[in-house]
Amino acid sequence: MGIKEKICPICGRSDKEVTFHGFICSEDFLATKKIKVPSSIMVQICKYGDKMQINAWTNNPDDLLPQVKRLIKAKGIEITHIDIDLEKAVAEVELSVDDEKIRKFIPLDVRRTLCDLHARATRGYYESIIQVRMSEDLERTEDKELIASKIQRTADRITVMLQQEERGEIYIRQDRVRGGIDVYTSSTAATFRVLSALGIRNNISRKLWTQKKGKQLFRTTFLVRVPYKAPKKPGQEEPENESAEEEQ
Ligand SMILES: [Zn+2]
Ligand SMILES: [Zn+2]
Repeated sequence: MGIKEKICPICGRSDKEVTFHGFICSEDFLATKKIKVPSSIMVQICKYGDKMQINAWTNNPDDLLPQVKRLIKAKGIEITHIDIDLEKAVAEVELSVDDEKIRKFIPLDVRRTLCDLHARATRGYYESIIQVRMSEDLERTEDKELIASKIQRTADRITVMLQQEERGEIYIRQDRVRGGIDVYTSSTAATFRVLSALGIRNNISRKLWTQKKGKQLFRTTFLVRVPYKAPKKPGQEEPENESAEEEQ
């Protein structure tokens, strides 16, 4: 007799047919290992479609893969592949030892919720308000349309800059109010940086907004006055220079 043949005590197959891990075949080795795979995984997706999470909010679907990995306990076994199909609501996990692979399908419990950002915004917690108003000079002109468009343009510019500054990780809401637009933002720090970068002069005031569980929440108000240059009289008309005018 040559080299001793191994026979798996569980399935009776020999090592001539299948790969072995120690005394038993790899397949049975995997089966006897305490692989803990959750019976279902809850995935939350923000109603606004911007973020998702299993245990940490992200706007990149690929970030969900390591989040799934953390839920699988497979000591000494390699997790070789994870795939998530949100449409079919299933995660596929491939575990391997030696040349044997096993696949586990974990159903996903997909729920529509609000992400951290939108939850905060919905609760009405804005850190700051930018009150965009006309300057006194602008107020004196009769051209209501001109006033409204200048205010809107300034509010939009601030909004776009804030989105860029925070890479979309900011909640902003514009409210039309008497005399202008209020821009609500979830970050005072970003607001401060953007207004400085735009060179927009503003008055800042800080008010205690609410007290939650002994924690004081402040809301900062930035008053921005849209500057105005009187139009030239007919005959000496000149194209107005918007940016020079606003970047005072
Ligand atoms: Zn076996
Ligand atoms: Zn969201």
